[in-house]
Amino acid sequence: MVAKSCTHICGESSPGIGEAGKTGEWRTSRPVIDPGKCIPAKRGKPSCFICWLYCPEALISKTIPVQIDLEYCKGCGICMYVCPAQAISMVNEGEFCSEQDGLNRS
Ligand code: SF4
Ligand code: SF4
Repeated sequence: MVAKSCTHICGESSPGIGEAGKTGEWRTSRPVIDPGKCIPAKRGKPSCFICWLYCPEALISKTIPVQIDLEYCKGCGICMYVCPAQAISMVNEGEFCSEQDGLNRS
């Protein structure tokens, strides 16, 4: 018997939400999307979604507006780096803590 050789070798993996746990608990900065710069929000049409494509946690929606599930976002910043419109900023979590607990930390 002659072994068949495969000419179609590929590697594929699909991330799933939460495979690394609720990483939002230890995140130090979070992505914030500016809808005034985000291409699908500005055009009102499904387009771009490069952040969705590159997020290693698969937690960015392909919707208008684009939404990020912060329970699992680990704050890696990849979405910010790949966004062609510079619509995503990484904001220190401390800024949100001071808003939530009402303390003035400045
Ligand atoms: S990559 Fe940037 S412009 Fe494109 S959908 Fe994501 S946030 Fe919007
Ligand atoms: S920072 Fe952006 S790319 Fe990284 S996990 Fe969060 S949403 Fe995904």
